[in-house]
Amino acid sequence: MSFDTLGLHAALTRAVADAGYTTPTEVQSRAIPAAIEGKDLMVSSSTGSGKTASFVLPALMRVLAARGDASKKRDKGAASGPRVLVLAPTRELALQVAKATVDYGRHVPGLRVATVLGGVPYGAQLKALRGPLDVLIATPGRLIDHMESGRAILANVELLVLDEADRMLDMGFIEPIHHIAAATPASRQTMMFSATFAGHVGRLAEELLREPQRIDVSSHTEAHADIEQRLHWADDLQHKNALLDHILTERSVEQALVFTSTQRDADWLADRLADMGHHVASLHGGHPQGRRTRVLQGLRSRQLKILVATDVAARGIDVPTISHVINYGLPMKAEDYVHRIGRTGRAGRAGLAVTLAERRDAHLVQRIQRFTTQRIPTTTIVGLEPKRPEPSAAPAARPASKRFGPRPGGRPGFKPAGKSFAKPGPRAR
Ligand code: AMP
Repeated sequence: MSFDTLGLHAALTRAVADAGYTTPTEVQSRAIPAAIEGKDLMVSSSTGSGKTASFVLPALMRVLAARGDASKKRDKGAASGPRVLVLAPTRELALQVAKATVDYGRHVPGLRVATVLGGVPYGAQLKALRGPLDVLIATPGRLIDHMESGRAILANVELLVLDEADRMLDMGFIEPIHHIAAATPASRQTMMFSATFAGHVGRLAEELLREPQRIDVSSHTEAHADIEQRLHWADDLQHKNALLDHILTERSVEQALVFTSTQRDADWLADRLADMGHHVASLHGGHPQGRRTRVLQGLRSRQLKILVATDVAARGIDVPTISHVINYGLPMKAEDYVHRIGRTGRAGRAGLAVTLAERRDAHLVQRIQRFTTQRIPTTTIVGLEPKRPEPSAAPAARPASKRFGPRPGGRPGFKPAGKSFAKPGPRAR
């Protein structure tokens, strides 16, 4: 399959060729033609799957269509608001979408793209909102601010995109999203991207989409080809710290992203690593935006070797030189594990994702393994082997028939793992 078969305008296939892409990814080949037809879409696809282009290219088709259609031309200078509105959970993700829009739109005459993001001054945003606009990319909170002051006009939105909708809801944006969607015309097209459409995300989809087409190319059950995963069992906190110290001083570490479960742990661990002489900073939701920007710049410019972060703060970080992701605190949600490890192994480089688990984390490890339907191989370091045996709660240690067989009176919502998880063997079936 090639980009020429997707129904894209020549200005866009040219830009795609400029970017060096020859073949559309799966999400692109499935979502782009349906989106161009005007269908509402519910799409599950993971980071690195090329999902950004799968909504940016159809969005640009709308802009190009309007350029050719005199009846859709607006009065010059009149504030008429964007044709396309993209909502994204974080500033980083919004900036990535904006960059992709400008890149893919490089041959679209006079393309006007603006961002409205939290944590940055209002001035430039107000200026952009006043002028004519094609594509607006916004984080929900700041957009609401502009709507309340009457600066953001959404009456001409033809396409609304919700990127990482599950994350936006996790961050408490349900009300803003409803409010924003209600300010756009009911006749609009809507595309919603989310790792899951279970629970409240599914309900939001029901409210916002009309006869949506479901496209599921989520690869949480596929191995990340470029990411090697390892699991170390630690006897206690001291042992866990010794493992971390050992791993961080390995020569193969270009840059490492270390995840903690809480903001306090992130600060504490960053201090501890700084005391040991590492170039390290912490990043979490409790920090002001200015610091966040500085820390990310430090990471990109390689002044920082280690970033200690929480899940929300690390969202959208795209730094190809991150060679290691280390789970120092385990994620409460299995999806977060997939998002975390996806911060490495980017741009075709190899990455290593190391999980440091204490015995009390065994259920979280189990949850991750069920979700990904993969075992994380257990590894030891010479001289730092755990003294206690591997916890028996880890699924790998139990026979498959017991693990996945019917569970009378079992927990509701128990999800049997896929077949790739159970090792074939005499006891497996
Ligand atoms: P995304 O999942 O949208 O974050 O995209 C992941 C990366 O894949 C980005 O760096 C894109 O530039 C790149 N990409 C997107 N589409 C393609 C394609 N068809 N072929 C090769 N690379 C692509």
